[in-house]
Amino acid sequence: MPKRKKSIAGLLSLEVIKELARPSDVRYGRAIHRRGGVEIISAEPSKVEAWVGGLKGSVAEGGGQRRRTRIFSRGERLAWHCAGNPKNHQVFCKHCVALALKILRRGGKRSKRS
Ligand SMILES: [Zn+2]
Repeated sequence: MPKRKKSIAGLLSLEVIKELARPSDVRYGRAIHRRGGVEIISAEPSKVEAWVGGLKGSVAEGGGQRRRTRIFSRGERLAWHCAGNPKNHQVFCKHCVALALKILRRGGKRSKRS
């Protein structure tokens, strides 16, 4: 049987985020997410795209440019793309962190909706 695409929510966790991103980006991404700086454009189980950032304030407060960011699954693996990254150097940046946190919230338990 061919392998199905994995859902992103199943590949993501707080541990995975911390492994992929630099500690500073985890902090900045958290700030962006906390301040509501993630606007989902489209969401499928295996691909989520959003506008991330564009908030005022310092970088530490989550401020900065707004970027189109995408997290998707490629087979069994997590993949991502941020318009703010150089073409051949896709780091898991603060935008990716913020979007990943948003996905975790959505994909997690159906508790409260924000
Ligand atoms: Zn970015």
